[in-house]
Amino acid sequence: MEGTLYIISAPSGAGKSSLIQAFLKTSPSCEIKVSISYTTRAKRSTEKHGEHYFFVSDKEFRQLIKEDAFLEYAQVFGYYYGTSRSYIEAILSNGRDVFLDIDWQGARQIRAKMPKARSIFILPPSKEALMHRLQSRQQDAQQFIDQRMAQAVMEMAHFIEYDYLIVNDDFEQALLDIKNIIYGERLHLKKQQERHHNLISKLLLEHPHKV
Ligand code: GDP
Ligand code: ADP
Ligand code: 5GP
Repeated sequence: MEGTLYIISAPSGAGKSSLIQAFLKTSPSCEIKVSISYTTRAKRSTEKHGEHYFFVSDKEFRQLIKEDAFLEYAQVFGYYYGTSRSYIEAILSNGRDVFLDIDWQGARQIRAKMPKARSIFILPPSKEALMHRLQSRQQDAQQFIDQRMAQAVMEMAHFIEYDYLIVNDDFEQALLDIKNIIYGERLHLKKQQERHHNLISKLLLEHPHKV
């Protein structure tokens, strides 16, 4: 059974990465992977190559585009970001689910190619909270924070294109909301029918000792 692809988008600082990481930590048996994107932006001091992103040069990124290595790619805040096609296809064909932390432009490209993908948009509880979170992360210069705040409204305007909407005010509640979406999706009839194929066949079989 093919896995499900979950797109998660939000303005920078709304809490996507924290929520995805908390989800993985608190649901160890959930069998869900996170896509590691390629990017041309500079690595933050807290980030590791191959863990948070694959950090590449402009030239390398353009070469990857030529090789059709991306399922989607987009320019965000002046840098390129792209999702590895081979990695996603390998995960899904192994029956595993995967999270894509990507922007609205990438989300549009994925939806067009993969109509079964589910998408979740995360909103901050206020503009002030968003600004405060960007600053408290202490990973970007003020100039970048200002740029990200300016882009936030643009990004948030696209919430309407998504399947699910979560407001990340209380972190534990937002985490529970994501869990409910993922576990709820897994209960869809078609998926359950495939998963429990043997059980259903046995339950519906006529009684063999009938007289
Ligand atoms: P597992 O613990 O063996 O299941 O490891 P993963 O499936 O998470 O990753 C397998 C390998 O793929 C690791 O070497 C990762 O660094 C690499 N990988 C993870 N994300 C990506 C991606 O987006 N693109 C590419 N090309 N490789 C990736
Ligand atoms: P994104 O990945 O969307 O850019 P992060 O996950 O890096 O955002 O979160 C930005 C900052 O906000 C981090 O310092 C994180 O700890 C904090 N944060 C996330 N969710 C909440 C929340 N519900 N309440 C308070 N702070 C939060
Ligand atoms: P950050 O630099 O804060 O990690 O991410 C900046 C923005 O780029 C976020 O909106 C994030 O969702 C988006 N992004 C990260 N990886 C990708 C990707 O592979 N594709 C696209 N389209 N957007 C991405």
